[in-house]
Amino acid sequence: MTDLSDREISWHYNSLNKYCCRLTKPRRAILDILSDTGRHLSADQIYKEASKISSGGGLSTIYRNLELLVRIGLVWKFEAGDNKARYEIAKRPDESHHHHLICKKCNSIIDYSDSIGNEKDFIREREKKLSSIYNFKIENHSIDFFGVCHTCSKNK
Ligand SMILES: [Zn+2]
Ligand SMILES: [Zn+2]
Ligand SMILES: [Zn+2]
Repeated sequence: MTDLSDREISWHYNSLNKYCCRLTKPRRAILDILSDTGRHLSADQIYKEASKISSGGGLSTIYRNLELLVRIGLVWKFEAGDNKARYEIAKRPDESHHHHLICKKCNSIIDYSDSIGNEKDFIREREKKLSSIYNFKIENHSIDFFGVCHTCSKNK
């Protein structure tokens, strides 16, 4: 796990200001908790950690602020196959992002970068095509593969 650098975390703080609103305690708690890259937490888990540092407010506050952060693009939300959404910190727009391999048995999540091989070129082409066919401005995509991880397939 790598912590985001100060420069990156202040990018998140500044974007919050720019796009919508003040850096309140719960919003800061969420950004700080998620700021280890490679963390994929459910709202419950974020709530638990936020209560430890006692600045997150109640679970509904966490939910509300999470949704807001997702809307303005500072946090990514995705399904992990167990009906519990996971949240992770969004990368700066100039960085390449990643896709997921999600184990349905133990819910572990592997990040891999889409800059590997020609996946990125392929997706960029698809985005261009889809944009023109549907006259749709694509801002983002998320790709999650579901299956069984190495450990789980060994422990059958
Ligand atoms: Zn597994
Ligand atoms: Zn991820
Ligand atoms: Zn991608």
